[in-house]
Amino acid sequence: MTDTFRAILVSKTDDGQKVEFVRLTEADLMEGNVTIDVAHSSVNYKDGLAITGKGPIIRRWPLIPGIDLAGTVRTSSHPQWKPGDKVVLGGWGVGEGHYGGFSEVARVNGDWLVPLPAGFSTADAMAVGVAGYTAMLCVMALEEQGVQPAQGEVLVTGAAGGVGSTAVAILSKLGFTVVAATGRPEEEAFLKGLGAASIIDRKELQGPVKPLAKARWAGVVDTVGSVMLANAISQVLPEGTVAATGLAGGMDLPTTVAPFILRGVKLVGVNSVTTPQPRRIACWQRIARDLDRSKLEALTTHVKLDDVPRVAADIVAGKTRGRVVVDVRG
Ligand code: NDP
Repeated sequence: MTDTFRAILVSKTDDGQKVEFVRLTEADLMEGNVTIDVAHSSVNYKDGLAITGKGPIIRRWPLIPGIDLAGTVRTSSHPQWKPGDKVVLGGWGVGEGHYGGFSEVARVNGDWLVPLPAGFSTADAMAVGVAGYTAMLCVMALEEQGVQPAQGEVLVTGAAGGVGSTAVAILSKLGFTVVAATGRPEEEAFLKGLGAASIIDRKELQGPVKPLAKARWAGVVDTVGSVMLANAISQVLPEGTVAATGLAGGMDLPTTVAPFILRGVKLVGVNSVTTPQPRRIACWQRIARDLDRSKLEALTTHVKLDDVPRVAADIVAGKTRGRVVVDVRG
């Protein structure tokens, strides 16, 4: 009998899309030179948009969503990987144009894989996932522009979310004074537990945007975009840097050139999807060093594959906290 495995499949319908749990065989998978027994995946904001249909993430129908996964190589014709290797994958269009991680088995291009970092389980790696790894890329972007703890406070927006909470934990471990902007004041204890020095209500960053406001931030990690990003930019100290990576609040950016030409503010875009492999590996090494594992655990919730459609709706509604790991075989 052919082995079957379980997956979530999103298909187009006349009036939108449908999400169903299906049983597939390896023959149903897309092309690739490495087949992986997936152990864990995670729910990222993009997965929420893909499963609810609230954003144009899916580029191929039908699709198995899930933009990240970690597991064990089953078969490989790629020179770098052999059966039994533990691997991690995030980005490269997986869960967007190529079948993704919400499946017990995945077949992918071996060039997209990195080795599971030493000391990490597959669940740990997905607690980091695309969101956590993007948070680290944002921190690296600030450092590369010369932002240092002695220069002043660093702002993290969308702080109770996946990218935001991980950024709070990493920045505080590195000695930064982190101010966490959140719409959920009830998460103050959670955010302070991760290392935030103080909390501000996100409403403070949602008013009318001035070209220049009172300067406060040496650096910013922004996961929200739109008015919040524009207000954050107008409050950056001279020569400070903003790492912009998200659009949870909108894709527009209603700013002016004033902060850039009068304060030398730098706006750095962070894209995790096509990060070259050497930088990915360097990023995972930094995560192993600079993300406190007890904090990673504190910001992570564990769910099963059955729970993914519910969590997808919650993440788009801004109701999930920190990171959500999916035990794909649980
Ligand atoms: P989460 O949903 O976990 O976090 C987003 C947070 O943003 C929420 O928790 C909430 O934080 C805040 N937020 C949500 N809606 C709004 C709103 N309407 N206005 C203001 N704030 C809001 O998502 P992730 O952390 O997984 O992703 C965050 C963003 O980063 C997403 O846009 C995602 O697509 C993007 N991203 C981009 C990547 C890239 O490569 N460029 C990679 C990974 C993520 P709070 O409740 O604390 O206010």
